[in-house]
Amino acid sequence: MSTKYVYTFGDGKAEGKADMKNLLGGKGANLAEMNLIGVPVPAGFTITTEVCTEYNKQGRDAVVAMIKDNVEASIVKTEEAMNAKFGANGDAFPLLISVRSGARVSMPGMMDTVLNLGMNDETVKIIAEKSGAEKFAYDSYRRFIQMYGGVVMGVEAENGKHDPFELVLDKVKSDNNYASDAEMTVADLKTVVAEFKKVVKENAGQDFPTNPWDQLWGAICAVFDSWNTERAILYRRMEQIPDEWGTAVNVQAMVYGNMGETSATGVCFSRDAATGEDLFNGEYLINAQGEDVVSGVRTPQEITLIGSKRWAERNGTSEEVRAKDFPSLEEAMPELYNELNAVQEKLENHYHDMQDMEFTIQDGKLWMLQTRNGKRTGAAMVKMAVDMLAEGLIDEKTAVLRLEPNKLDELLHPVFEKSAIASAKVLSKGLPASPGAATGKIVFSAEDAEEWSDRGEKVILVRRETSPEDLKGMYAAEGILTERGGMTSHAAVVARGMGKCCVSSAAGISVTPSALKINGVAFKEGDFISLNGTTGEVYEGKVATITPTLDGDFGKIMDLAENNTRMYVRTNADTPADAKTAREFGAKGIGLCRTEHMFFEGERIWAIREMILAEDLEGRKAALDKLLPIQRQDFSGILEAMDGLGVTIRLLDPPLHEFTPNDAASQAEMAEKLGVDVEVVKAKVESLHEFNPMLGHRGCRLGNTYPEITEMQARAIIEAACDLKAKGLDPKPEIMVPLIGTVKELKMQEGIIRETAAKVFEEKGVKVDYMVGTMIEIPRAAVTADEIAEVAEFFSFGTNDLTQMGFGYSRDDAGKFLPIYIRKGILKNDPFQVLDQDGIGQLVRMGCEKGKSTRPNIKLGICGEHGGEPSSVEFCNSVGMDYVSCSPFRVPIARLAAAQANLKQN
Ligand code: ADP
Ligand code: MG
Ligand code: MG
Repeated sequence: MSTKYVYTFGDGKAEGKADMKNLLGGKGANLAEMNLIGVPVPAGFTITTEVCTEYNKQGRDAVVAMIKDNVEASIVKTEEAMNAKFGANGDAFPLLISVRSGARVSMPGMMDTVLNLGMNDETVKIIAEKSGAEKFAYDSYRRFIQMYGGVVMGVEAENGKHDPFELVLDKVKSDNNYASDAEMTVADLKTVVAEFKKVVKENAGQDFPTNPWDQLWGAICAVFDSWNTERAILYRRMEQIPDEWGTAVNVQAMVYGNMGETSATGVCFSRDAATGEDLFNGEYLINAQGEDVVSGVRTPQEITLIGSKRWAERNGTSEEVRAKDFPSLEEAMPELYNELNAVQEKLENHYHDMQDMEFTIQDGKLWMLQTRNGKRTGAAMVKMAVDMLAEGLIDEKTAVLRLEPNKLDELLHPVFEKSAIASAKVLSKGLPASPGAATGKIVFSAEDAEEWSDRGEKVILVRRETSPEDLKGMYAAEGILTERGGMTSHAAVVARGMGKCCVSSAAGISVTPSALKINGVAFKEGDFISLNGTTGEVYEGKVATITPTLDGDFGKIMDLAENNTRMYVRTNADTPADAKTAREFGAKGIGLCRTEHMFFEGERIWAIREMILAEDLEGRKAALDKLLPIQRQDFSGILEAMDGLGVTIRLLDPPLHEFTPNDAASQAEMAEKLGVDVEVVKAKVESLHEFNPMLGHRGCRLGNTYPEITEMQARAIIEAACDLKAKGLDPKPEIMVPLIGTVKELKMQEGIIRETAAKVFEEKGVKVDYMVGTMIEIPRAAVTADEIAEVAEFFSFGTNDLTQMGFGYSRDDAGKFLPIYIRKGILKNDPFQVLDQDGIGQLVRMGCEKGKSTRPNIKLGICGEHGGEPSSVEFCNSVGMDYVSCSPFRVPIARLAAAQANLKQN
């Protein structure tokens, strides 16, 4: 059987369906599905993603030849369904079509759509005549030349210049003193069409194609080409979408929202994408085509009455003005509103998820143009999952699996401090386009946003409106402020997807490429400004922010995670305060407590420096005696904060030179403080110099050359634990030896630890349970894990070092080549962020398996950065780890990821 390249839909029938997203793209699969469930959709067809892959391999001519017959046959089917003919064809109404891209996952604004294709000097006349709406016909024609000229023929604004098409429109308007496009007459539009063709000829060096079939093939290939535009590639990289997926092409009969006052177009959501509230909402424009709503050029009206009333209240618009000038669809076209409302309910129930829909009303008839599971903020994601579970729309497993762990991060994000906000000066109020709080310096271009943020500045991107070219800059900014655009404008949709705060359509503001004015007051580049994307308020200057508390729906989500997880989550914490925070987030113990971090605080550094300077064992012991009580106190605080839960404490790990100063002044200070000659300090610092400190005298190599350090640390831990136990607490210390490569290194350290513990038990007359284990972070340790497990009671995979040593990439130097490796596709991800499952992960797997082979009940966990990264957490679950450990603020994310891993693997 030959491969099927083209799938038709229309008239309540379809060759594809919803679960064919890989082949038809999200848009195509859902267009098919909507047909199947009786939702009105204009007829058309979808060219598969496989054709895109072939296009990238074989090129244009081969692919056009391959699908030509299918496409022609499918156009005939579309003609029949819509009772129209493609091109000028005698008495028939001309069929115009849209050509739209659609990948497996939605990539908003990434791929370009061409509308009204099929228009030429003949078809426009027939349409004008048959529709009786001449102005509509010519308006559609000029839109087509503009879109096709831009998307397919590459006619666009050169850097710093105006769009040549817009210049034509501006001239016609200013010559006639028109305030808007709407005032243009048929004669004006005819002039515009003629001028547009000249613009194309001048800029593209060829005539605008008049043959509809040429137009069609040009547009289809342009969609395939757009898969490899810079911004599409960038979006894929950010969202981890493989380049191989390709995009489908959707060719669909046009329906016209710009046919006059009984026509309209809009975008709507079955629930509130910002808050999660179960309220149908959206925006529409009378007498407009789809792109008018999205581009933000005209400010759209609300679909529901309640939404419209809320809008007026936010905006300070009186009820009288609202009802007269900005009525909701519910008021303006009540019957169509009811129909749309029924469709949105049907679609949400069908897909069991919040739907983001596009619709067009053509002369009183409703057509749906798209539906997809809507993007949402972290807060909305949580609320919707909890609500839908309660409503019985989804089950618990679906609720857990649907959540994006990384999005929980947004709920942990800052909001403005109450006191700071009370005294902050409100400059303006706009639409709360994407929630959160942001404060930063004003920049006016995406490039500046990137540049400034690269050098560590926090910036707010201020634009008249945003377009897909601004994506990188939006990513780099803390928040986005736009002069124009509604809740479904590009800026709003993209910002919500990114979890960035955004305020749009702010009242009284005007933006030029280099200046911002708010109610007459000028702001320049670099001035501080603050945005509240939850209320739409814009504030002068810097406003202090705080982190929100977590309860309510968030707590319910965490309970769901708890009920469905096998692994538990610990935290990496070095202070009692961090331990406490993490415990509130649901951490069940500490996976990594780094003792050396404590050495840098206050006067402690002098004791460790004294130890480093000591010439002999006696001197070192004297210095260590000073450190003992300090360490004991630290451990006591942490063990107490994690009372009843395991606390893995790592013995001293970094090379000693990290504790000594390098500059002359600090060396002199050290000499004076410790009462030695400055030359002694210098000589010591020099002697500590290493060519490759990461592979040098560090980790257990310190403890094995200076056993007294291990002895002191073990004593501090065990004494702290005994004292707590005597007070009735339940401390559970786990002493971890770092950087083991051979079992003997561990054996010797274990000997010291156990001997010391026995002594302390005897001295105190109290005993505590404790464990001795090791970090698996040197490849040799992973490979010989069976031997090591004969001594170690637990393993904690130190995947940062394991990645460093397994790849042979110095973590501190990888910045020079990793970004290039990722760009060139040599690596898919930064292996220090996302565990390399095929390589380093295999060392982890081997370590787990070998460890269990000699000690079946060995406790297994991970403490590298990867412990808070969802795909790595899933891997840890698959190799049978007991827990993952991560920084306190990632604990909720890891808990959810752990539950998802468990549900997926069962
Ligand atoms: P995106 O993926 O950026 O949303 P779309 O392909 O959905 O792009 O289309 C862009 C705009 O064109 C949308 O507003 C959509 O409603 C409109 N549109 C697409 N196809 C048609 C059609 N057949 N008739 C009328 N409008 C259309
Ligand atoms: Mg769309
Ligand atoms: Mg390490």
